[in-house]
Amino acid sequence: MKLHFDVGACVRAKSKFSECTKCMDVCPDSITLQDNLPTFKTATGIEAAACVGVCPTEAFALSNFSTTEFFFSFLESKVRLISPKINVPCLSVLSVEHLISLALASNEPITLDLSAYDEESLLYKHIEETIEEANFVLSSFSDKQLETNVEESARHPELVSRSPEEVSDEEVTSRRSFLGNASLKGVIKHKKAFDEAVEADELQQFDIDASVIAKIKDKQLPNKRKILFTTLKRAGVPEVFEVLPQENVSFVSQKYVDEKCTNCQICYRICPTGALSTDGKFSLIHFDAMLCVKCHLCHDVCEPDAIHLQKGFEIKELFEPTQRTLATFNIKRCNECGNTFTYTGGELTCPRCLVEEEEAMFLHQNAKQMKAKMEEEKIKQEES
Ligand code: SF4
Ligand code: SF4
Ligand code: SF4
Repeated sequence: MKLHFDVGACVRAKSKFSECTKCMDVCPDSITLQDNLPTFKTATGIEAAACVGVCPTEAFALSNFSTTEFFFSFLESKVRLISPKINVPCLSVLSVEHLISLALASNEPITLDLSAYDEESLLYKHIEETIEEANFVLSSFSDKQLETNVEESARHPELVSRSPEEVSDEEVTSRRSFLGNASLKGVIKHKKAFDEAVEADELQQFDIDASVIAKIKDKQLPNKRKILFTTLKRAGVPEVFEVLPQENVSFVSQKYVDEKCTNCQICYRICPTGALSTDGKFSLIHFDAMLCVKCHLCHDVCEPDAIHLQKGFEIKELFEPTQRTLATFNIKRCNECGNTFTYTGGELTCPRCLVEEEEAMFLHQNAKQMKAKMEEEKIKQEES
């Protein structure tokens, strides 16, 4: 099994200021930085799969294992054990979002087989943390939890896969009804990504706002978020919405922008998912929490450090996504060049014209001083 890296999807390729190290943190022996980009050794072992699960933008992928396809095939099967001995190359290939989606979409509890891992290893700790986070988020709106198994899976025969012939048509129909009921017909059957459903405008049936669908159509949202998005739509809205500490949620965030913002336009132009956006005049900053993958790029590129994480993440955003306006700007036309700019008071001159004016003034002053000096020297010469 080979590991593929889509450099274009890595946030480090979008800006040299990106400080993302998520893949390197989970696979320090296999992935290092070279020319500011992650690079991996060719002989990467099972541990390398952790970078697939942890990358916020799905820049890493395995050659013959697709997490999206696994989501559908797992639900379609009768197996309720996820194990490197049976159906995944490594548990770490699944992200927190995948685990939440699988737990929600399954009618029976899911067990994750940890028996193959060394409890002292970094990989084991990473998998444990991923499961803990998924269960923590799940506990805020559902009574479903993922279970873990540290013993040999053979001691749990009821969890081991049955052959396809043993699975009745009713069971398969029941699995397929998971998304069938949610009007994403054929997605399980053909094991295709959500893109097709999005392309076919089927997400409108979930009352998802047209502007959000437009952003998803940009193909910037990772498949794992599309899976979570649609699974949550089916799960039903909880009675009470909790607010979770932002440090306990690794895959999504809420933000605010303070008065230091200069509307330099970088964050909303560079955001890989479209979570940050603006209008046609660049007169505001919009934020859709449900589209944010917490890649931190917007923070890393913001020179005045004006964008911040909200202390708590409101679970409501996962069920009733909103678009919030983080900042508004007074856009005016420059008296000098006629271009629009962010007006903060004073003369109606854009920063570029102001700089040009200052430069012109400086050159003019310089020329005047030079001329005066030359005349002074001429007089001195005439007198001598
Ligand atoms: S985790 Fe993903 S986005 Fe971050 S550096 Fe690694 S490949 Fe790039
Ligand atoms: S928040 Fe920062 S990066 Fe975004 S527009 Fe304002 S100054 Fe620029
Ligand atoms: S809003 Fe910021 S952290 Fe969220 S996806 Fe966009 S760039 Fe990444």
